[in-house]
Parts: sequence; C-alpha cells; structure tokens
Amino acid sequence: MTNTPITTTTITNFSELGLSAALLKAIEAAGYTTPTPIQAAAIPPALARKDVVGLAQTGTGKTASFTLPMIELLSNGRAKMRMPRSLVLTPTRELAAQIAENFDKYGVNSKLSKVLLVGGESMQEQIRILEKGVDVLIATPGRLLDLFERGQILMTDIRILVIDEADRMLDMGFIPDIEKIVSRLPQQRQTLLFSATMPTEIRKLTEKFLKNPVEISVAKPATTASTIEQKIMLTTHENKKNALKTILDREVVKNAFVFCNRKRDVDMLGKWLKDKGFSAAPLHGDMVQSKRTETLNAFKAGEIVLLICSDVAARGLDVAAVTHVFNYDVPFHADDYVHRIGRTGRAGQTGITWMLATDDEEKLVKAIEQLIGRTIPIEPFVANKVANKAGENRHNTKLVPAKPQVKTEKLPTKPMAKPPAKSAPKAPISMDGTAKAQKPTAKQTSSGADEVVGFGDDIPAFLRRH
Ligand code: AMP
Repeated sequence: MTNTPITTTTITNFSELGLSAALLKAIEAAGYTTPTPIQAAAIPPALARKDVVGLAQTGTGKTASFTLPMIELLSNGRAKMRMPRSLVLTPTRELAAQIAENFDKYGVNSKLSKVLLVGGESMQEQIRILEKGVDVLIATPGRLLDLFERGQILMTDIRILVIDEADRMLDMGFIPDIEKIVSRLPQQRQTLLFSATMPTEIRKLTEKFLKNPVEISVAKPATTASTIEQKIMLTTHENKKNALKTILDREVVKNAFVFCNRKRDVDMLGKWLKDKGFSAAPLHGDMVQSKRTETLNAFKAGEIVLLICSDVAARGLDVAAVTHVFNYDVPFHADDYVHRIGRTGRAGQTGITWMLATDDEEKLVKAIEQLIGRTIPIEPFVANKVANKAGENRHNTKLVPAKPQVKTEKLPTKPMAKPPAKSAPKAPISMDGTAKAQKPTAKQTSSGADEVVGFGDDIPAFLRRH
C-alpha cells in the first residue's frame, strides 16, 4: 500500500482519462462535463489494471469511478455460461440497483450484460440470466454465497472485483462472507475497494486481498459537503415528534430523508406523520423487497415527500436534489451522521439538515462535531405557533408536496391566547457555549398550545457547557 494518498490531480476533462470514444459519448449524454476528484484519480490506475483503494464517501461520484473503467476493460471478450467476468459486492439491494443503473447509463454504447444477485428477488430469474453468461455480477454477499453454494455460479473467470462501501459491510457483519467469497476468486484479478472510512478491519482486508494498491483519498474520510447547512434542534424525548413537525411546518421541504436509529421507530414515525397529513412512507430492512422498491421509486418520482428510514435501507441511496435530511435520532456512530446528511447537498447542490437531540445525547453530538471538525448550531425547540406569531419563518410554512393529495400547508390550529412578549430565539446557539440561549419563557410556551415547548427556565447543561 502506498503511504501517500493522492488527493489532487490536474485532470479536468474526461477525455484525459484514457476512456474510449464510446464511453466519452455516454458520459456526455449523462450530462457530465468534468470528472469528480475520485474519478480523476481512480480511473487512470483502474484502467491500467492496478488495484485501487478509494477513500471516498457517497456523493463524490465514486460509483462511476469504478463502473467507467470496468466497462472499458470488459469491452473486449465474452462471458461464458455461469462464469461472470467481474463482480461488484455491495452491502444493500438498493445500492446494488443504483450501481446497475450506472452500468446502464454509461454502458449504453457497449454490449455488456449484467445480473443483480440480491436477496428478496426471484432466484430463478437470476439463475436464468446467469446461465446465459454475464459480464458483470452485482451482488449482496448473502445471495451470492447462496447461489454459489448451490453450484449456480462459477467464479473462476472473475478478473475484476469491486468491494463497495467496505466500512458499511463491516458494520453489517459481512466481512466473513466477503472473505469467503474473495478466497474463491482467482488470484489473478484486479481488486478495487471503496470505503468512506478506513477502520482497522478494512485496512486488514485491503492488506490481505489487494496487491500493491494505489490509495486515493479525495476528502478526509468524514468531511461533510460545504453546501450542507447543518442544524440541531434541542428537544426532549417526549417532544421529538412535535419538534420534527415544527420544522416541517415552517420549512420548504421538497423531499427529505428522515433517519431513525430503530426500525420500530421508522414505522411509528411514518404512521404518525401520515396521520398528521404529511406525505410519508417508511423504508427499512424488514420490509419485503417489492415494497422497498416500490417505496423508493415513489420517493424518487416525488410521489412521497418524506422517506422515513433506517441507516441500512438508505445506505448510499442517490436521489437527485434532496432538500433536507432529518436525523430523528442522533446516530450512535458519528460516521452514520456523515452518511446520512450526505443524502443532500450532492453534486454541489445545497441542502439543509436537522438533527433532533436531547440533553442526554451530548456525548454523541460531541463525537459528531469532533468527526466533522465543526460545531453545529443549536436551536431549542419552540412550537411553531410561537415562532410564527413572533413573525419568524412566516414565508416558510409549506411542506411542498409533489402530488395534490399530500398536505400543502400546515399552520397552527389554535390561536395563542396572548402574543408572546419576546420572539422565539433567532440566533442559533453554538455548542461551544459562546452564544447565549434565548430561553422561551413559560408564558411564551404555554399560551393555549397543546404541545409542550422549549425548556422553560431550565436550560440544559448541554447548552451551557464551558
Ligand atoms: P455517487 O457518489 O457515485 O453516488 O454519485 C453521486 C452523484 O454524482 C450521482 O448522482 C452521480 O450521477 C453524480 N455524478 C457522478 N459523476 C459526476 C460528474 N462527473 N459530474 C457531475 N455529477 C456526477
């Protein structure tokens, strides 16, 4: 492994990467003019059949950084029956589908065949395609091993292996499966491994399975895009749902991921939001695949505004122009925060992220701030009726739905008995404790509202540290 990661390159044009005219045409048709840093750095060594370790998070264009050279390298030759020529291992079915879409998009001018081997889909159909011979196998580890053990696949012809989202594979307990699979592949092969972070276990995997790889790091493993505006709303466990609703009521949300730490909360919150008139649907790993696909397609088509999801289900999902990401729970692992908020602010677009935090989650929030190298402004939860009465965010009361049947406007239903003496806090409060919290007073927060709001006079230590 090289010790000096490539972080910059002078390449600014796809034509300098060594790709064929057919691929350049497909890239142009996809609307891309300039290679992203990971593409500029990874494509040339990949085309030279070198092993590559790419430290890059989703949203950096890393999928094309392996699909483009694969299409190029596989353009000569033909696959034999049940003997695929390349393998892309990926942790989730959704990610597998996304990679397949990349092959379709960039491979329009080539005749490569591919198959998706993912759980929850018909095995018979997958076997039927495999039998014809495929150039690219895109698989989640479990289904691949299953088919291999049934004797449906011969892996002796695989010359290119891609391990995508390696750190997520680790989180999901897939490393033993990966080791089993890779040990069955021919020694003479090219291996490309992509990971947002490089924990020891993944480092060991690269040392074991990659030969003298070129290591590329396009950004610090856990940096967040500068186009994302990150905020925290400080609330209590009891008030979390109302805090979320308050933000949804006042911001223009075109489409958003809402992340929960637990599957049961995904269902609960999805139902609650639907009951409140929002266009929302859950997405988690316990749902049958057909339902997952249907939900995701509806979200991508703009028929669902809020996708309530678990980390696993939404891992690496690429949905264009997502305006918001909500962390309904502070993630247990700081890395997950980076992955979650990376669903917005993609490809230079802007995005807003909110995280609902409670006083007892200070440690988790601090870990996130340390990882991303910045403090996230905090706003205490104040019910929207107070904020609206105070003249804040008056223009921003819509949850923008894509279809007419979804909610278009949500305004406070009960008038306040008295307008508040002071407005709700305007300035975000930094966790470094330099700015002072403008506390909502008991009066401000209890004027006929059915929701408990703010923290009264009891500002948590969380806000007062230092
Ligand atoms: P990925 O990190 O592979 O999930 O890609 C993130 C997003 O960037 C996807 O929507 C890609 O279609 C898009 N993308 C990939 N390459 C480029 C490029 N060179 N220029 C602009 N957008 C790109």
